[in-house]
Amino acid sequence: MRRFFRETPIGISAGPRTTSLLMEITMDNGWIGVDLDGTLAHYDGFKGAQHIGDPVWPMVNRVKRWLTDGRDVRIFTARVDGGTVALNMDNEAGAQFAEVAKVRGYIEAWCLEYIGVILPVTCQKDYGMIELWDDRCVQIIPNTGRRADGRPE
Ligand SMILES: [Mg+2]
Repeated sequence: MRRFFRETPIGISAGPRTTSLLMEITMDNGWIGVDLDGTLAHYDGFKGAQHIGDPVWPMVNRVKRWLTDGRDVRIFTARVDGGTVALNMDNEAGAQFAEVAKVRGYIEAWCLEYIGVILPVTCQKDYGMIELWDDRCVQIIPNTGRRADGRPE
């Protein structure tokens, strides 16, 4: 089994010292990132920050099964990056994403309606992320630089 480690402060007060422990991350206890547009929700062009497409049911149902199995699933989307990258690329739509709390609220409402619970929403990878499901990902075979999907390099 592949193993990952992260250092996690666990808030034990020991006088002036902060205690931290190394917690083992395995493929069983990390989190699974799931993209929103084009992965969980249909996407066929930008229609505003408030618009999130209809659910892609096979993906939504996969997430529901993971949750039933006790997995930690998080929405992984650039919608909560504050929009500055888009603005810097001269995409004015980025301004609609400036209020991250509001944008997060749209996503949470969608999540509650179609998945039945509000999942964490992030645009940031960390060492706890064990899988990423995304329509833009290209998987590579570790340490080779080679595509895992068999398509031409
Ligand atoms: Mg996408």
